[in-house]
Amino acid sequence: MEVIARLLGRARTVDQRVPLGQSSWAGWVERLLVGTPPCRFCDDPGQPSFPVCRACEDELPWIEHACSLCGIPLEVSAPTCGPCLRAPPPWRVARSSVRYAYPADWPVRRLKFGGDAPMAWLMAGVMTRRLPAFLSDRPLIVPVPLHRRRRRERGYDQAEELARLLASATGLRQEPVLRRRRATSPQVGLGARARRRNLAGAFEAKCRLEGRTICLIDDVMTTGSTAAACTETLRDAGAGPVYVWSYARAE
Ligand SMILES: [Zn+2]
Ligand SMILES: [Zn+2]
Repeated sequence: MEVIARLLGRARTVDQRVPLGQSSWAGWVERLLVGTPPCRFCDDPGQPSFPVCRACEDELPWIEHACSLCGIPLEVSAPTCGPCLRAPPPWRVARSSVRYAYPADWPVRRLKFGGDAPMAWLMAGVMTRRLPAFLSDRPLIVPVPLHRRRRRERGYDQAEELARLLASATGLRQEPVLRRRRATSPQVGLGARARRRNLAGAFEAKCRLEGRTICLIDDVMTTGSTAAACTETLRDAGAGPVYVWSYARAE
C-alpha cells in the first residue's frame, strides 16, 4: 500500500491536471484505492459522492452575495437589487448556486447541446453543496418544462433530470405539474417586454395546486422571465409561495 502511495505521489507530479475525459493509470489506481469518483473538471480524485475535487470546488464561481428576491449576484451585501426594488418579482425567493461563467458553464452546454445527460448529476451535486434556506418549507419540486418537440430532439428534459436528482438528494417530492403549451422562440436577444410577450400563455398547470408551496427548478436563469411566467401559471392554479432554484445565473 505504502509503495503504491509513493508511486502515486511520484506519478502525480508529472501527471497533474489531466485533460477532461482522459485518465491516467495513477488516477485509476488511486480511485480503486480511495473509492471516490474522478473530478469531472480535472480528473483528479473527487470527493465522496461528489465528482468534483476540493480545488475545483473552490474555483467554481459560487454566488456569495445575492439579491434576496431574484438571486442576482451583488458586489456588496445589499438586501435587494435596484430592479427588484422597483418591481418585485412574482416568486418569493430565487437562488442560483453559481454564476454562468467558466468553469461552471460547460456542464450546462454539454447537457443542453452535447447530449450528455449525466452532466445533470454533476450540476445537481453542485446545487446540493449549498442548500437554499427555503427548502426547510418542504416545497414540491417542479421542473420548468421543455416543449415536447424540443424534448424529443434532445432525448431528455434537462430541468426534469435536475428536479429528479435534487428531489432524491433532499428527500422532497417531485412532480412535473407544468406543461409547455407551445414552443417559444429562443429568448436570446429579446428585451424584457418581448420576452414577456413571447412567453404569454406558454405554460399550463396539469392540476390544481391549492396552497402548495412550490420550488421551481431550472438549469440557467437569465432575466427570470421564464420563471416569472411559470410562477404566474402556478399561482393561477392556486399554488402558495413559489421559490426558484437554478444551477446557474447568467447576466
Ligand atoms: Zn478537479
Ligand atoms: Zn433582485
